[in-house]
Amino acid sequence: MARHSRFDLLFEPVRIGPVTAPNRFYAVPHASGMTNTMPRMRAGFREMKAEGGWGVVCTGYVSVHPTSDDSPLPYATLWDQNDIRAHAMMTDAVHKHGALAGIELWHGGGSVSNKTSRLPPLSPSGVSWMATHVGFMGNQRSRAMEPGDIRNLLLWQAEAARKARSAGFDIIYVYAGMGYLPYEFLLPEWNQRTDEYGGSMANRVRIVRELLEVTRDAVGDTCAVALRISLEELRARHSDRAASEAHEVVELLADVPDLWDVKMDSSPTDCSPSRFTGEGSHEPVIDFVKQITKKPVVGVGRFTSPDTMVSQIKRGVLDLIGGARPSIADPFLPRKINEGREQDIRECIGCNICISSWHDSVPVRCTQNPTAGEEWRRGWHPERFATTASPSSVLIVGGGPAGLECALTFARRGYSVSLAEGADNFGGRLRFESTLPGLATWGRVLDWRLGQLQRLPNVTLYAGNELSVTDILELEHQRVVVATGARWTRMLYSTLELPVGELEQAYVYTPDDVAAGAYIDGPIVVFDYDNYYMGSAIAEHLTQFADSVTYVTPAGHVSAWAVMTNEQPQVHRALAHAGVEVVTLSRVVKFELGELVIANLFTGEERRLLCRSLVIVGARMARDDLYQALLARRQELAPAGILSVDRIGDALAPGAIAHAVHSGHRYARELDCPPGAELYRRDSPIVEDPPRLYDDGSGERAAV
Ligand code: ADP
Ligand code: SF4
Repeated sequence: MARHSRFDLLFEPVRIGPVTAPNRFYAVPHASGMTNTMPRMRAGFREMKAEGGWGVVCTGYVSVHPTSDDSPLPYATLWDQNDIRAHAMMTDAVHKHGALAGIELWHGGGSVSNKTSRLPPLSPSGVSWMATHVGFMGNQRSRAMEPGDIRNLLLWQAEAARKARSAGFDIIYVYAGMGYLPYEFLLPEWNQRTDEYGGSMANRVRIVRELLEVTRDAVGDTCAVALRISLEELRARHSDRAASEAHEVVELLADVPDLWDVKMDSSPTDCSPSRFTGEGSHEPVIDFVKQITKKPVVGVGRFTSPDTMVSQIKRGVLDLIGGARPSIADPFLPRKINEGREQDIRECIGCNICISSWHDSVPVRCTQNPTAGEEWRRGWHPERFATTASPSSVLIVGGGPAGLECALTFARRGYSVSLAEGADNFGGRLRFESTLPGLATWGRVLDWRLGQLQRLPNVTLYAGNELSVTDILELEHQRVVVATGARWTRMLYSTLELPVGELEQAYVYTPDDVAAGAYIDGPIVVFDYDNYYMGSAIAEHLTQFADSVTYVTPAGHVSAWAVMTNEQPQVHRALAHAGVEVVTLSRVVKFELGELVIANLFTGEERRLLCRSLVIVGARMARDDLYQALLARRQELAPAGILSVDRIGDALAPGAIAHAVHSGHRYARELDCPPGAELYRRDSPIVEDPPRLYDDGSGERAAV
């Protein structure tokens, strides 16, 4: 199909200093969780974006020096020859498809703890980031930078820029965002210096200007120099000289960089979840930049709609459409627009499982795109599928995320697929969950898969078909895949986190009961130890039906794990807004006669809450009765022509939707592969150079 003419604008080349992006699709820097220890995986992951049509593909954050060490978070390095080789794999891979490669050079300043290098972190004035979440907390504070440290920082940036050029990069970044070192110079709370780098805005911005200048001097006219900068905080600050301090900074640096990459200041606002924010949420902060600079501007906003992209350009907000999550969820997004296949775009759902991978220090995972991170190690291409040599007929029982993904992947491989769903509609858990406050966008997991399946000739969809063992035996399919999901339990746990059995009594409910429309009378207590989104979302949901909803959790925060997905700060706000009382660090002791007794986890101090209905959001167990029943009639399988019966998704092991989708995908990819296919290729670091000593400039010598 031909591209729609109204999207032509998106495919115009854009000059960025000495280089030219072939179109306006710009895969901005974002962490992949792969670091330099997995260079082939990382190259494969980034290459896919270039193949899919992104005109520029960037790295994640790349440390210029061992004083910038974010461990245990998975950051990349560009310190030595081995690092150059590791990154060159990515630039070669990206260039193969005609895209430009960008590198985000980074110094973490007082926001890192240098847990591996053990070098004292550097900051403008000895002020350090003080994180409030375990996992991000550290107990190593920074030291104030001496004039010699500033000179070193400039040397490190210049040296890293030269290395980046020899690794083949086309766009080289100075990164003044997200609390990292150059950003720390911009804010007086961090920067209390009395020399020429502190005080007035012209002084505070000096280091950024110098970093840009040394980068340009280092790479000459061969590479573009980009500035990535966070403007949220600065935009909120008054300036005597300009409309805000953000305006002042942009005016001071207007045409110094070849490209402005503009963003927010903290991960939860920069990479905000769809539960609380829509497409294009950065615009009110960054919309002014293009009015000041003549250089191209790139920004993000979870853009998946080509019409929104065109509007951003036509309205003069952006020149290049930045994508991190949309490029993970669908690396082929640009190509699909180019080919007039917008309806095939696998739109990001804004769940932020991808960013949780970085917080977990593991390779990127994506709910929508199960092939993300698997390009090299499992050889999975998001758009290409090995056609099966033995196209047997497959029956998939259960049309949730796992069943849908499995059906689609089997169909693309040439199998004859039947997907049976007991309920009247497909979607499994999404049928209910996408109706919860803020979660409608998650429905894209269902909508995209169903839309694709409905267009394939080798798929038959049976909604409203609850299948029994007898039905399955009579249907004469060769492969049976059970994707019947999981159930929420009424299980409680002891203070030692040991299961103590289910609370089987009246007025105790689970999310399944709420989904099934059970009448739940107030006052309601939601007891959440699942710790992800369900507890808080259901509490918010239940405020429609009862005046009093209390959320109780043994964790220290509401939806404690949701800190990994950047949702937690806003979850707290949402519950406060909905009037839900929050009680943390507590467990359930007893529930009777309209009263719930809870106890503090550590002190044991008891508290009584009025409670007519208790909703337990805790452990899930596989709903695999059908699978077990099929196994119990094992002897009848072969006579019925059935070659295999397996489980996938939550019916195998309950987990987040991302896990169910991956499970369904993997099963269909690997069914007729040789034994051992489930073992993926393990990547290894490049270690051609012997270790050498590296001068960190502080008078200490650090081995790298
Ligand atoms: P997953 O996340 O693993 O895909 P879900 O719980 O979201 O799991 O979806 C499982 C789906 O399976 C549900 O829609 C449920 O109605 C369906 N299902 C369960 N048992 C049967 C059955 N015997 N026949 C057809 N569909 C079933
Ligand atoms: Fe989007 Fe979720 Fe995939 Fe991240 S994990 S890219 S937020 S769909």
